Amino acid sequence: MSLRVLKLWLAVVVCGFAAAAAYFSYAVIERQHSLRRISRYNLTWQASQTLAEFMRLHQSLQMVRSFSGDAETAALRFDIFAGTVSGLSRGAFEDVARRYPDMGSVVLKLEAALKTAVPHKDRLNEPGQAEAMLGILTPLQGELNRLTAATYNHGAELATEDEHELTRLHWIFSSLVGCLIALGIGLIGLLARHNHLLTRAHKDLRGMTASLTHIAHHDALTGLANRVLFRDTLVAALDEARQDGRTIALLYLDLDLFKNVNDALGHGIGDDLLKIVAQRLRACVPSDTVIARLGGDEFAILLTDLGMHEKSLGVAHHLIEEIGAPYEIEGHEIVIGTSIGIAFNDQDNVAPDVLLKQADMALYRAKADGRGAVRIFEPAMDQWLQDRRSLETDIRKAWAARDFEIYYQPQVCAATRQVCGFEALLRWNHPERGAVPPSEFIPVAEDIGLILPLGEWVLERACTDAVGWPERIGVAVNLSPVQFRDRGLLESVGRALNRSGLAPNRLELEITERVLLQKNEVTLATLHKLRTCGVRIAMDDFGTGYSSLKYLSSFPFDKIKIDRSFVRDMSSRAVSSAIVQSVTTLGSSLRISTTAEGVETEDQYRRVLAAGCTEIQGYYFGVPKPVAELVFTHEASEANQATI
Ligand code: C2E
Ligand code: MG
Ligand code: MG
Repeated sequence: MSLRVLKLWLAVVVCGFAAAAAYFSYAVIERQHSLRRISRYNLTWQASQTLAEFMRLHQSLQMVRSFSGDAETAALRFDIFAGTVSGLSRGAFEDVARRYPDMGSVVLKLEAALKTAVPHKDRLNEPGQAEAMLGILTPLQGELNRLTAATYNHGAELATEDEHELTRLHWIFSSLVGCLIALGIGLIGLLARHNHLLTRAHKDLRGMTASLTHIAHHDALTGLANRVLFRDTLVAALDEARQDGRTIALLYLDLDLFKNVNDALGHGIGDDLLKIVAQRLRACVPSDTVIARLGGDEFAILLTDLGMHEKSLGVAHHLIEEIGAPYEIEGHEIVIGTSIGIAFNDQDNVAPDVLLKQADMALYRAKADGRGAVRIFEPAMDQWLQDRRSLETDIRKAWAARDFEIYYQPQVCAATRQVCGFEALLRWNHPERGAVPPSEFIPVAEDIGLILPLGEWVLERACTDAVGWPERIGVAVNLSPVQFRDRGLLESVGRALNRSGLAPNRLELEITERVLLQKNEVTLATLHKLRTCGVRIAMDDFGTGYSSLKYLSSFPFDKIKIDRSFVRDMSSRAVSSAIVQSVTTLGSSLRISTTAEGVETEDQYRRVLAAGCTEIQGYYFGVPKPVAELVFTHEASEANQATI
């Protein structure tokens, strides 16, 4: 029932009550009126009384006439009779006189006769007076009888009228009472209905409030707690922990390079991935643990019952393992890692926001230390964070001022000692920091996203520089995993080749195993497209990462570059020699050339040559130099320079 109908119904009930009340007061007035008319029944009695008094007077007069009665009694009777006659002419009789005009004349006749008879009254003891009075009064007897009959009839008519009126009133009262009862029942029904509607509205409101509260406190995508609820829970947990001395661990984690999944496979798959990650997180911790999604790919977990630091660390490592297991979404195999920062409430009265910040700092550190790592907050991280922020600012400034340079290091053919290519290596010389090694600034540039424009610039510069070299000499450019997974990489490479005019087969792109860790169709498709263009692909730093042979089988590399740590140890550790030997054997059977990195001495040169390496790179043949200083004419063994 709508509110409009309810209001209408209520208005009808109120109007009904008002009409009933008005009619009740009207009926009561009517009733009073009827009662007043009933009082007129006395008139009949009055008329018959007048007749009776007449008869008594008549009798007394007859007795006086026959000397058997006394004149005084007759005079008294006369007075009484005169009194009743005068009573007739007043009050209710007027009504009868109006109704029956001849009855009015009867009373007039009576009054006139009495007036005539009055002189006889005082002389009744005289002879003949009684006869005279009888003579005046006796003719009135018939008139009096008629009058009595008329008043009787009038009374009967009034009684009948009153009876009808009372019956009418009875029905009106009954109908009114019936209507009032019906209206009352209607009103009760209305109130009951209203009450029911109110109860339902309250229930709906409670339900709505509950769902609004849920929405306000939970993440719509994953169903996990949101930042608001997580903070509230953290405040309460810290309060409790202060009282019972418990240790609380706040785990802050985010997915490594989640943006790439979104960029490469679309936001729909990114969302599905986040949902599965949330499920895996739930499965890794006790069911009553509060897990929150704080932002895009940032999650937080509050461990309140584990106490010891080691246990929380155990949970964190378990989480990394579980999140790192491959995902199968819409036919795509996705591998994504996570880094975790942990902060404990070790300090007294640590504020919730401070604990969150500490966990965030630890996470920052974990990511900076190579992703897929766990770090526990330490006060020194504060300083580290400041240093890191200042480094980020300096890198940005350096990029804006184009303070970066490219140096080239020769790669020589092992058998002929002739230069076959140069590797482009980034250099940054800061006025205060000095020469900052790439191993320090490249990971930071990757984290702040600067590696994309920086890498594109290296590509273009290297291609442009190489165009001026002898045609047999190629250039190798390092690609960061971040840059490699960027959708615009193919275009960047194409643009660099087009603008410089360098033949694609003179460009070699060096990737590390980190690129293949995130193995998916898009990565492999990009690699294949590059190779189809004629660009060569080299596996850099082989042996330092997972060194999984499956990476070699997943893509037909043109070159394997054996990391310099193996070359350095060849003279002291037999196992390093064995590894170099195996890799070169594997390379030759797969028809992939192998480069030994970091060859610094004649001895190392001989060993890698003996092991079967096809190319060599290292200070023994040349340190990285600016393009203007490259000399191609001297013997490397003597002058640290390469020959053509
Ligand atoms: P990488 O690609 O393996 O480059 C070889 C590194 O070994 C260079 O270090 C080079 O200077 C060094 N090296 C070469 N021969 C010797 C040697 O005989 N002895 C010793 N001790 N070192 C030698 P660098 O220039 O410091 O670069 C370090 C890493 O930074 C590179 O390793 C590469 O992964 C990265 N990198 C450098 N430039 C770029 C760049 O433009 N883009 C990207 N994404 N990464 C770059
Ligand atoms: Mg390299
Ligand atoms: Mg290398």
